Amino acid sequence: MLNYEMGDTVALKKGHPCGENKWEILRTGADIKLKCLGCDRQIWLTRIEFEKRVRKILVEDKWISIVNYKGREAEK
Ligand SMILES: [Zn+2]
Repeated sequence: MLNYEMGDTVALKKGHPCGENKWEILRTGADIKLKCLGCDRQIWLTRIEFEKRVRKILVEDKWISIVNYKGREAEK
């Protein structure tokens, strides 16, 4: 299982209808709470749904494909 943390910024398979595709993780656990950074709308996804939809994660201003992401510690 990948190590997502509160405060991480991710891109999903599909962006929000407002046009933005940057989401901040507000809560992790069995369900994941995300905030759209375009319009501040908050949504809940189940972890399974989240892991199906997430594509990239922003680490120090670089987008990393989730396939290559091993957790924040591994990027240091
Ligand atoms: Zn939005």
